[in-house]
Amino acid sequence: MKTLQQILDYNEKFVLEKKYEQFSTTKFPNKKMVILTCMDTRLLELLPKALNVGNGDVKIVKNAGALVTHPFGSIMRSLLVAVYQLQAEEVLVIGHHDCGMSGMKPETVIDSMKARGIQEETLETLTYSGIDIKEWLHGFDNVSESVAHSVEMIKKHPLLPRDIPVHGLVIDPGTGKLDVVVDGYQS
Ligand SMILES: [Zn+2]
Repeated sequence: MKTLQQILDYNEKFVLEKKYEQFSTTKFPNKKMVILTCMDTRLLELLPKALNVGNGDVKIVKNAGALVTHPFGSIMRSLLVAVYQLQAEEVLVIGHHDCGMSGMKPETVIDSMKARGIQEETLETLTYSGIDIKEWLHGFDNVSESVAHSVEMIKKHPLLPRDIPVHGLVIDPGTGKLDVVVDGYQS
């Protein structure tokens, strides 16, 4: 059976049996926080459990590497929406050890693209259009530095209220242990 069909079959029962009832909450985060973290599968349940947050407690924004790469990209917009529309009063950036974006080689990704049928000409066209694919696909070398950099990007954003603490942390995807990189109350 195809994955989508399995999901839909399960979903039908889920709704019918009212399994949603235990998750009933509002769109406003009880703990008034927005978290930016990585899409890593190991963090799906571990991160909320390790932080003692449940459904309704926080906003979570995810991408590959918990990175803010552009001040006016969708990640920054999501954080600002959380603050201005959804009552978030603190921002947490949580990177993690053993991240797929750590030491990711753009060349390797580009090779995989070519192996999947992306033409060299397409890559050249993008380059001529001013898109630096290698830069765009670049990960990071050090997770703590990367988290600190994202924290700086957020803190210095011209549209973020100055009184919003922005914290930076690194989580261990095996144990859930958190290490503080930036204490947003101190800066
Ligand atoms: Zn990751």
